[in-house]
Amino acid sequence: MTPALPDEASRLRCGHCGNLTRFDVVRTIRSSEFWHATLAGDVEIDETTVLAEDVETIRCRWCSATDHIEIVPRPEFGGPSQESPGDGGV
Ligand SMILES: [Zn+2]
Repeated sequence: MTPALPDEASRLRCGHCGNLTRFDVVRTIRSSEFWHATLAGDVEIDETTVLAEDVETIRCRWCSATDHIEIVPRPEFGGPSQESPGDGGV
């Protein structure tokens, strides 16, 4: 199963340990970038458009679990704002 990423109304949560804030996300992104160089040759990327995105894994930084990362609502949408222990992945 391909892991899902949260949107503007949701966030990640580790179902094992309750971590809400720290994850390692491995993803492949195909993008188009507007490179804006100075005359000296230093480049800044002014705009990035994501053309395709493939999420490989999302790993909890606290307990290293990858098998029970869930999507929950953000606090303003009724979701948790405290990091509390999870259900052990049941
Ligand atoms: Zn965890």
